[in-house]
Amino acid sequence: MKYISTRTPNSEKQTSAYVIKRGLAPDGGLYVPETLPSLTQKDIESLVDMSYTERATYILSLFLTDYSEEELKNAAEAAYSVEKFGGPAAPIAKVGDDYFLELWHGPTSAFKDMALQIMPRLLSLSLGKTGEEKDAYILVATSGDTGKAALEGYCDVDRVRIQVFYPVNGVSNIQKKQMASQKGNNVEVVSINGNFDDAQSGVKKIFADENAKKMLADKGYFFSSANSINWGRLAPQIVYYVSAYCDLVNEGEIKYGDLLDVTVPTGNFGNILAAYIAKKMGIPLGKLVCASNRNDILTDFINDGVYDRRREFFTTVSPSMDILISSNLERLLYFTVGAEKTRECMEKLVNEGIYTLDDETMDIIRKDFAGFACSEEDTAKTIKDLFTECGYLCDTHTAVAASAAKRYKSENGNKMLVVSTASPYKFAPAVLSALGVDVPDDDFDALDKLFETTKVAVPSNLADLRNAEVRFTKTVEPSEMINSL
Ligand SMILES: *Cc1c(COP(=O)(O)O)cnc(C)c1O
Repeated sequence: MKYISTRTPNSEKQTSAYVIKRGLAPDGGLYVPETLPSLTQKDIESLVDMSYTERATYILSLFLTDYSEEELKNAAEAAYSVEKFGGPAAPIAKVGDDYFLELWHGPTSAFKDMALQIMPRLLSLSLGKTGEEKDAYILVATSGDTGKAALEGYCDVDRVRIQVFYPVNGVSNIQKKQMASQKGNNVEVVSINGNFDDAQSGVKKIFADENAKKMLADKGYFFSSANSINWGRLAPQIVYYVSAYCDLVNEGEIKYGDLLDVTVPTGNFGNILAAYIAKKMGIPLGKLVCASNRNDILTDFINDGVYDRRREFFTTVSPSMDILISSNLERLLYFTVGAEKTRECMEKLVNEGIYTLDDETMDIIRKDFAGFACSEEDTAKTIKDLFTECGYLCDTHTAVAASAAKRYKSENGNKMLVVSTASPYKFAPAVLSALGVDVPDDDFDALDKLFETTKVAVPSNLADLRNAEVRFTKTVEPSEMINSL
């Protein structure tokens, strides 16, 4: 399996190890597999009997063909161990008539762990496979959850340094503390005066800066990324859609061939793109419902065919979805209209802040996708309703998806998989407020209060955070990011 860029027709073909090491393609595009592997009914039925790590090994081996089965198996076993996840890596909760795929049982209580527990191992292996002599310098722009998950995944990994930038007022206090207290000798955390898009643009600028590249090379490093633009992030996310379908078949909730609709709380479009790829590979998924918060640029795009970032940016109770540039949408464009048109759209987005697709293209996209936006009030009401009516406690991001899932009524009577992306404790103040409980000033008191109110167990990584020592306190302007390397 070889990889090509989303922006140049007939671009140079690269191995998976190379693209994982490299992150962005040289033309600024994202790497995509040349063709998608397909799964037959027989393949899927054999996956039904496997464990999560066996499924991961199998699916990853279709995409990462220059890694040995043994390497992938070892990486998957280390990444998704019971020690790290406290049980199955991606359990499903039945809530009313719907299924909630809980992707937050990893070490940082958010779904980014699903990719970032395994990607560092793949990157480490890639350095040897590509004969790389320099070490990797990972730059991450985060809206909160990626940063901590990347820090945790890369912490003290051989031949890697990691530096994380987060918007100073764009993440919760708990997320801040998680990052600021990160252990490890190869980590650096800096906050910036700006929003997530400023952080992301800043990182992209550094990646493109020849002087920065040279300065780093002199120190023995090359730039790499852990953002969801890296194929090494995306490939492991395909696994849990395959796995969820297999689990539901295995438990007799659906029969093989029944279409399963999926609703994904979406920001950068990485998670939902993984669902799309699983569907294109042959997993019988129905509609992919793209759920947005008040930053509803994707909903507008799916409904109108216009991607217009020239709009107000809102800070919401689901900060990991506060995004105006959904980078991974570029991969969907590539799969739908090809490289030439994708490059045109991306250039328009940079130069004019807007691009438009024709009706024919949008009809193709709307066969697979529907878009719904959820207001702050809807988010809170959904948390409260799910808890009081079904006894199920969910976080703010998951609530956005649950609300969208409810509004999208499948005409075909398909079952619905709602993707649950964070522990409710990661956003305890907003969850408490949604439940109508007074919110304590201190975030950590809020954790305790949420436990008293709901009796749902607190993940230990969050319970231990209160007394963790803060190691990183620096804040810089976006224009100064480059000087903090
Ligand atoms: C990152 C994140 C999302 C958005 O996922 P994308 O892949 O960026 O679309 C949703 N919920 C949570 C909790 C997240 O951390």
